[in-house]
Amino acid sequence: MRRFFISQEQREMAETGKIILSGTDVNHIVNVLRMGIGDHILLSATSGEEFECEIAEIGNQSVVCGVLHTSVNCTEPAVQVTLLQGIPKGEKMELIVQKSVELGVTRIVPVMMERTVVKFHTTQDGMKKQARWQKISDEASKQCGRGFCPEIAPVQTLKQALSEMQPETLALVAYENETVFSLKQRIQSAIKKNAVLRIAVLIGPEGGISPAEYETVCNAGFLSVSLGKRILRTETAGICVLSALRYEFED
Ligand code: SAH
Repeated sequence: MRRFFISQEQREMAETGKIILSGTDVNHIVNVLRMGIGDHILLSATSGEEFECEIAEIGNQSVVCGVLHTSVNCTEPAVQVTLLQGIPKGEKMELIVQKSVELGVTRIVPVMMERTVVKFHTTQDGMKKQARWQKISDEASKQCGRGFCPEIAPVQTLKQALSEMQPETLALVAYENETVFSLKQRIQSAIKKNAVLRIAVLIGPEGGISPAEYETVCNAGFLSVSLGKRILRTETAGICVLSALRYEFED
């Protein structure tokens, strides 16, 4: 069944038995998918609730959906993972967003790091990229059946990203010069101490993480992890971490 994501406001409409869709969803449903009255669609709320609906009315700017059945989405992982990604060149970030969403990432923060080559000359340039990456996240979420669409945060500096860290997060930095601690060891020892609910992982851009940045994140409480003896490309590193976490937590 086709899935659409709804806002909190639309979620509240469910109590009345009807949810109204507007904006780009209308064109998608009516003109692209050519759906009509009586067709069924699935509406996912950020709360994890899902509403199976029947299209009841189609207007120029809206589609009215009658709620048939409510359930809770069970495709979301229990451990929330934030990917702090040093912004890479060209279209690599698009691949990173798409694959990370499939692998269950909760949030992606694009970070301007010292060795990031791309320059955003105005805030608008950054916002344009953020919107493009958000669209890729939306599409990947729909395609892979997630009950939640991971947010792509605004492009930000490492300092800003660190200031927004949520409490009780196991913060990791993938560092190719780390020779002692593997991802597996860090996760295992964290699990022994506490239940791990939230993980954040920082991945450097192509040129890696500078010594100054490394020191900053270590002072902020990040633990360095090795991803093995070979140096992975930046777009491989995040996928590697997320896959390993899926295996570890079996979700
Ligand atoms: N400084 C490097 C490569 C950077 S690779 C160089 O230019 O030679 C890009 C990022 O991927 C790194 O900053 C790191 O976050 C991650 N990464 C790649 N291979 C890794 C490994 N074996 N262990 C931990 N992190 C790794």
